[in-house]
Amino acid sequence: MAKENTAIFTFFGASGDLAKRKLYPSLFKLYQKGYLKDHFAIIGTSRADWTNDEFQGIVSESISDIKEESKNQANEFVSHFYYIAHDVTDKAHYAALDELINKLDKQYEANGNRLFYLSMAPSFFGQIALNLKSEGLITQEGYNRLVIEKPFGRDYKSAKQLNEELTSTFEEDQIYRIDHYLGKEMIQNIEALRFGNTIIESLWNNRYIDNVQITLSEKLGVEDRASYYDTSGALRDMVQNHILQIVSQLAMEQPVAFTDADVRVEKVKALRSLRVYTPSEAAGNFVRGQYDAGDTGNEYRDESGVPDDSNTETFVAGKLLFDNYRWSGVPFYIRTGKKLADKFTRIDVVFKKPLIDIFAFPQKSDAALQANVLTIYVEPQSGFSLKVNAKSTGQGFETEPVNLDFFQDADKEKEVPEPYERLLHDALEGNSTNFASWSEVAYAWKFVDVIRKLWDIEEPIFPNYLPGSMGPVASDELLQKDHRAWVYRLNK
Ligand code: NAP
Repeated sequence: MAKENTAIFTFFGASGDLAKRKLYPSLFKLYQKGYLKDHFAIIGTSRADWTNDEFQGIVSESISDIKEESKNQANEFVSHFYYIAHDVTDKAHYAALDELINKLDKQYEANGNRLFYLSMAPSFFGQIALNLKSEGLITQEGYNRLVIEKPFGRDYKSAKQLNEELTSTFEEDQIYRIDHYLGKEMIQNIEALRFGNTIIESLWNNRYIDNVQITLSEKLGVEDRASYYDTSGALRDMVQNHILQIVSQLAMEQPVAFTDADVRVEKVKALRSLRVYTPSEAAGNFVRGQYDAGDTGNEYRDESGVPDDSNTETFVAGKLLFDNYRWSGVPFYIRTGKKLADKFTRIDVVFKKPLIDIFAFPQKSDAALQANVLTIYVEPQSGFSLKVNAKSTGQGFETEPVNLDFFQDADKEKEVPEPYERLLHDALEGNSTNFASWSEVAYAWKFVDVIRKLWDIEEPIFPNYLPGSMGPVASDELLQKDHRAWVYRLNK
């Protein structure tokens, strides 16, 4: 039975792409499931001069792919939306917004609960937080929560400054830093797999694990996001946040309990043990790439909005090392890029081979035992598989790898909540487990800053990989020099 939540939402950036594509449809799903019912209202703001009706029309459009039988429900849902034109940089506009919030709070009996969602350029975040406080929009009755989008700064220094601006109005436990990867079903499943299974957690260390591989692969290029992407690049856009969040979940110690506070403590501890490289170590352990022209598309530098001489990386691969008892000596290899072979996210945990292969003699060497691999398939399909060695059927005694698989069935897959639906619900419930804390963000930037600084000085030879590949040759060489290989590779 769903528990109804009460809140007045204020969306800054209500006319933007993210709000229309992700936030309104996710809120509608929460409404359909009963997590939002009678005691909520949603205020949209942007500079556009819209009426309530126009705004409600836009929200209706954004949920138009809902089923025919949900039309009445959709109309009821949309009636909870209100619009006010508002320039976040103009302090004078906040009084009218405050008045509307108070009015709707009484009308919907929202108990003074306020959720402010900043779905706009991060350069405005600090100013909005300061204005919310100085103009008296922080309630004393219910809760005040701030949900913010990535990116959180461009480096440690700017992130720290932004954090100081936010924390002059909101406490850390009131700030919800969205990382939508943390809302994905199989990323959340990492904790269940690890801490719910003796056979996995007891082997989850450097005695039994040889290496860990994380791949976030995208098939598309920059499309219409070039102006943002060219100032960011794959390191800032994917590694600092999503990948290091996944790494920390894989590497952390067992939390005392599955609460947001306990999980955060362990994730921070893991990130503190991540070795921050010297520039020369970074040069040896990280590689970058930029996509070339393919059969159908431009090379990155010819994409609209990208400067001809851009050195922005569209691919990163790297080796991460932890200086702690559990992981000492186990490399975590990561890679992400655009215009790769396919769109998928997966984690491959490669176990050590048995120390002695008693089956090897007198057989051929190509019948040798293979390493066990636990693969967590994050998307597009959710599931996991464990590769084990078994006897080949028939005469003689040869071994062959077989997979123990679990894949979510198609009907269940449809029930999996969208990351934004799950994260909006968590924010309503006051559960921060799947949001990045400031300490996590800070350690992640300190790690990434060294690589970024190095790459900003050194001139790369770009473009260096073809669309449809798995990145530049240097990415394969990164593992080859450790006598290893990517588990997922093309033309195996
Ligand atoms: P967007 O489409 O550019 O929308 C920006 C919004 O901000 C618009 O509603 C715009 O409306 C409003 N705005 C701009 N200046 C304003 C001002 N001075 N006062 C009030 N409103 C103002 O951006 P988006 O793609 O939705 O992205 C929003 C945030 O989500 C960004 O932080 C982005 O990095 C993050 N994000 C987006 C995506 C995505 O898929 N789009 C994915 C991950 C993260 P007006 O111009 O009418 O004022």
